[in-house]
Amino acid sequence: NLKVDAQAEVENVRVFVRVRPLTKKEEAEGHQHILLIDTKENLIALNRDGSSPKPFKFDQVFPEDATQLTLYRVIAVPIVEKSLQGYNGTIFAYGQTGTGKTYTMAGNYTKPDLKGIIPNTFSHIFSQISRASGETSFVVTVTYLEIYNEEVRDLLSADPNKKLAIRERPDVGVYVKDLMGFTVDSIESITELLNRGNKNRVTRSTLMNDVSSRSHAIFTITIESKNRSNNKTTVGKLNLVDLAGSERASRTQATGERLREASNINLSLSVLGNVISALVDGKSSHIPYRNSKLTRLLQDSLGGNSKTAMIAMVSPADIDYEESMCTLRYAARVK
Ligand code: ADP
Ligand code: MG
Repeated sequence: NLKVDAQAEVENVRVFVRVRPLTKKEEAEGHQHILLIDTKENLIALNRDGSSPKPFKFDQVFPEDATQLTLYRVIAVPIVEKSLQGYNGTIFAYGQTGTGKTYTMAGNYTKPDLKGIIPNTFSHIFSQISRASGETSFVVTVTYLEIYNEEVRDLLSADPNKKLAIRERPDVGVYVKDLMGFTVDSIESITELLNRGNKNRVTRSTLMNDVSSRSHAIFTITIESKNRSNNKTTVGKLNLVDLAGSERASRTQATGERLREASNINLSLSVLGNVISALVDGKSSHIPYRNSKLTRLLQDSLGGNSKTAMIAMVSPADIDYEESMCTLRYAARVK
């Protein structure tokens, strides 16, 4: 059961690091655990050669034994509570492929302890709705899309291979034309949509050589509330984003189509970093939302009163030193 602190107020942008355990394979191959973590001060450093490495500081560092529920409480609860009150929020999972982005966002939702952030939001949202006074009614709507190679596809559509266009209208802002939105009224019906979208993602991924590690997936829950006595309405949008793997093209020795993919991923991740750091900085008058589809689509949920959390995933293994260093630098630069 989730103990919810509905009063928790947090900063608009928070950056976290989560470390996954060494895998059996890494252990069997004799790879060393090279992370130094101070959970009190929220410091993390990579210690490859024993010299005293420079630590990075974050809002919180979650070591390998941190539970799914701990992450949910610290990272998601304050953002989900705000979305119930009509504010927008976004949670990003960032990192090299194999570091735990999908484990953190989705997890294994057939096992209560292993449920990730997305399924935990379902129980949280519906339990808060059932506890609300009879005066307020809620409508919860879900969309689920994928951005691959700067192309948008609907993971809930009957035709998940169809490319969708991004449009903009003065009254509604930026939107995806023909994106399917589903109204849900229970944990079961929203879980069914998550399953359907994930199946489509896996199917496409199998057909296209593991495309899912190279695409961004955005699961969006829109919560509308209406107070029957004064007709006051609020709309809050919660975006739960499993980002494409951040590994650099050079390591995968990409050519041709793969190189194009890799440069699109690099571009959208660096634009995302630029957008968030410009928001944190607060000095820039220009926020470069329009430079990638990801930030363009999330424009109304980044900045202003919105709450943003970035979770940077790192591997503890010596062989991943370079990528882990890139991930920590990226995350540290964001805030
Ligand atoms: P990504 O989505 O970043 O490519 P995954 O979420 O698929 O990575 O994780 C890779 C593997 O590591 C999976 O087998 C997953 O179950 C495991 N894993 C990741 N994070 C953790 C964790 N915090 N605790 C235990 N296992 C984890
Ligand atoms: Mg994944």
